[in-house]
Amino acid sequence: MQLKESEFLFGTFHGRHDGAQATVTAVRDDTRSESYFWVCTCGASRSFHTENGVFATAWRHTHPTRVDRLRQWATRRLQFRAHTAR
Ligand SMILES: [Zn+2]
Repeated sequence: MQLKESEFLFGTFHGRHDGAQATVTAVRDDTRSESYFWVCTCGASRSFHTENGVFATAWRHTHPTRVDRLRQWATRRLQFRAHTAR
C-alpha cells in the first residue's frame, strides 16, 4: 500500500484466509484519532487507540482458526440468505 507522509509502517503480516494470500500492513499515523491501524489486501481494516491489540488481531486475521473460518462461513451464508430473501 502507498503510505501518506504522516504514516509510519511498523509491521507486515503474511498469511492466508478464504483460500487466498493475504497481507496485512500495520501503520501508525498520529494525525488520526486512532493512531494505530492495519489494512489487509482483502480490504478489511481495524484501527486502535494504542499499539495494544494491533498485532494480535492482524495475526489472527491472516491466520484464522477453525472457529474463525466457521464464523466467516456463517456470515457469508447469512448475507446470502438476506440477499436472496428480497
Ligand atoms: Zn484480509
